[in-house]
Amino acid sequence: MMLTMLYEGKAKKVFATNNPQEVIIYFKDDATAFNGEKKDVFFDKGRVNLAFTRYFFELLHSHNIKTHIVSFIDDVSLKAQKVNIIPLEVVVRNYAAGSICRRLGFQKGLEFTPPLCEFYLKDDSLGDPILCREHIRYMNIIEEKELTEIEQTALSINKALFEHMDSFGVTLADFKLEFGKTTEGEIILADEISPDTCRFWIKGTMESLDKDVYREEKGDLISSYKKLANILGIKL
Ligand code: UDP
Repeated sequence: MMLTMLYEGKAKKVFATNNPQEVIIYFKDDATAFNGEKKDVFFDKGRVNLAFTRYFFELLHSHNIKTHIVSFIDDVSLKAQKVNIIPLEVVVRNYAAGSICRRLGFQKGLEFTPPLCEFYLKDDSLGDPILCREHIRYMNIIEEKELTEIEQTALSINKALFEHMDSFGVTLADFKLEFGKTTEGEIILADEISPDTCRFWIKGTMESLDKDVYREEKGDLISSYKKLANILGIKL
């Protein structure tokens, strides 16, 4: 059976199903960084990231967070509710790293208590710029109260993930979430949660078990992801 591809992103492909309310999301082996300027293919990355996404989304389901997941099909694809992706990247930071250090001069490793929640516009042609609430208001992306709801959900997700990772001796420095709107207008968590979208440090150090290994060329990416899976007891 030929599947109709609806969309291809940097790390995933989305296909239509017989049910107009559902899509199939396929995890590619491609890795990109710096707004697509750095690009490579890593054998097995799609399978590994899907295993992490399954692990984290199931954890969030146990915390009553609603996500787009319908079912897991095989080791590289899942079935999800079709949503309209809200064009915002929601980033939560517990410790300074990455763009906040480059842009604002924060020292890497500075702790943010309470955690910081930021919004970026999902627009590659503009380089995914950071937005303040007022920008979002004038862009008519979502309503003010929906933005507050997203922020609160992102901070609840942060609490659940941070505490969980901490119990395994891993520090969640920061991560990115995407939300989607269902046909009924409900906002739910979409996309993925994996070492591609989070910064994980071995507790007490800033040793990365995430995409910084690739961004900063600090070693073998897949070995680092597999090391993290092993710590968490995720069977690959
Ligand atoms: N992130 C992501 N996709 C993006 C941009 C960022 O998943 O397009 C994640 C990134 O992996 C990190 C967090 O969001 O865990 C914060 O990223 P940051 O703003 O520091 O940007 P970066 O250093 O990735 O350029």
